[in-house]
Amino acid sequence: MSAYVNPALKAFADSIGEERDFVETRIRRLDGGRFELRHAAEAALPANSLEPVDLPGLRRVARITASGAFRPNKAAPGLRGGWMHTVRTLPELGLAIDALYPGAVPDWFAGQLPTPPITHFKDFTARQTGLYRITQILPTPLAARTVQACCGEQFCLRRRLWTTEGLAPDDATAKSALPCLEPCALLLDLARRAMKLEQEEKHALAVSHGDLPVLVAALERALEDPSPAVREGNTMDPANPRRIQLMLEVLRPLLPKPDASGPTSPE
Ligand code: SF4
Repeated sequence: MSAYVNPALKAFADSIGEERDFVETRIRRLDGGRFELRHAAEAALPANSLEPVDLPGLRRVARITASGAFRPNKAAPGLRGGWMHTVRTLPELGLAIDALYPGAVPDWFAGQLPTPPITHFKDFTARQTGLYRITQILPTPLAARTVQACCGEQFCLRRRLWTTEGLAPDDATAKSALPCLEPCALLLDLARRAMKLEQEEKHALAVSHGDLPVLVAALERALEDPSPAVREGNTMDPANPRRIQLMLEVLRPLLPKPDASGPTSPE
């Protein structure tokens, strides 16, 4: 009697061909039904320069960045390299992919369906209770800004299929083949934080046209070099990269438009 093979896993394995990249991982078909996984950026390295890891080792690779920070979102860019994992069977391949990207194979399979099972932002927040019920009243423009701040490819390599008003899904070629079928816990938390901030008393801050680009440049610089001490999932922290990105979503549209007539002479 042949062993049952999950149809999603079978379709995923068929999609590999000789090799394919999936999110940040290169998957290579070997002889005898085996597969090798390694970081896609290390595809050309000789195998003996990489450390063979077992399944628990692969989970550790996915859990911690090279600088030792916890990765709450396993689809975030920044998977560390230096490792190699070999599997002998399709079920082992499924376990390996799940170690790197939890839930990825069923999500990938669902994303291939003519009508993927998507939960849009409004439907997702409508079912929230308790602490997160507040996300139901997020004004439409703030919801769109929050999604842009949370789901950009500098933070997440899942391709967003769901939408919120005023924001289209990610382009079919964007990010990776791993779809996002519904908002995740990180987004929900940022949405809650954004609504709390929206409800706070506001400062009337007069910023000149000339100073606005300074603020934007400083925030962009902070995003390029985030402190390793800042936890990705802690949106209470004002230095959280998604909080900074949320602020940028507010400030960038206010920047003076570049002068179409070309550079002007110095004042
Ligand atoms: S909601 Fe956004 S951040 Fe969360 S998994 Fe989906 S695309 Fe990524």
